Amino acid sequence: MTAQPCLRAITVRQPWAELITYARKTVENRSWTCTWRGLLAIHAGKTPEADAAEICRYFGLRKPSALTYGAIIAVARLVDVHDNCSGDCSYWAEPEAQFHWVLADTVDLRQPMNCSGKQRLWTPEADTATAVLDQLPARLHAAPGIDASTDPSPLEVIHA
Ligand SMILES: [Zn+2]
Repeated sequence: MTAQPCLRAITVRQPWAELITYARKTVENRSWTCTWRGLLAIHAGKTPEADAAEICRYFGLRKPSALTYGAIIAVARLVDVHDNCSGDCSYWAEPEAQFHWVLADTVDLRQPMNCSGKQRLWTPEADTATAVLDQLPARLHAAPGIDASTDPSPLEVIHA
């Protein structure tokens, strides 16, 4: 039996993935929630937003053609998810988004790891996860991940 790597991932369209790294965007606005708390790989999807050029200009990012696609480019810690929050929690929070995923300690990968993205929360392949985790500072390894869906006791803690 192989242990599941203590890493989950979400696929984020560019340039939003770049904003999580370059601009330290600390809230990911989503219409769905998850029970995972711990290391979260930020995978830049293959397809950019339709208005990517406009968003890049607005935030002073590199051009869309200069961004990385189809790769894990960073790792953050998913520390909280706000449900039906007013949006006052962060500059990056959209009041109309049902869930605010709160990211902390974001680390850019020196070597982005090419891989396919997926819908919803996903678990990277073991070799990809190892290559990602090897690039992280020790302080992130010290933060254990919890998937409350596989263990009922932390769920009570998280929702207490
Ligand atoms: Zn919020």
